[in-house]
Parts: sequence; C-alpha cells; structure tokens
Amino acid sequence: MKEFRICPGCGYERGFHVYLMQHQEGETRLGLICPSCGASYDPDWVSKEIGTLPPQKGPGF
Ligand SMILES: [Zn+2]
Repeated sequence: MKEFRICPGCGYERGFHVYLMQHQEGETRLGLICPSCGASYDPDWVSKEIGTLPPQKGPGF
C-alpha cells in the first residue's frame, strides 16, 4: 500500500482520527476511525509505550 488516506466505506479523502483501546495488560491497540462515516479500521498497531494520557493544553488550544 502506498497510502491509506481515503475511506473505502464512504470515500472521505482527508484521513482518519486515531482511537486507543486497551489490548492486553500493559498494551494499547491503536486504530483508525473515519471522521465522516465512523467506520473503524484496525492496522494491527500495538504499543507498550502508552500508559495513561491525562489531557494537556497544547500551544494551539
Ligand atoms: Zn468513511
């Protein structure tokens, strides 16, 4: 695959939101959600690096 930007479900062309879900103890699964139709895609990304994510204000907010 060269690029995955367009939703196969609805044709939305501007990329995806990311979601995080507990996978196993100490592991987090990352997935993609289409912001237009809500279809989710699982690229089989698993991280052991993500613990809790307390909200923080960034420079743009
Ligand atoms: Zn879509």
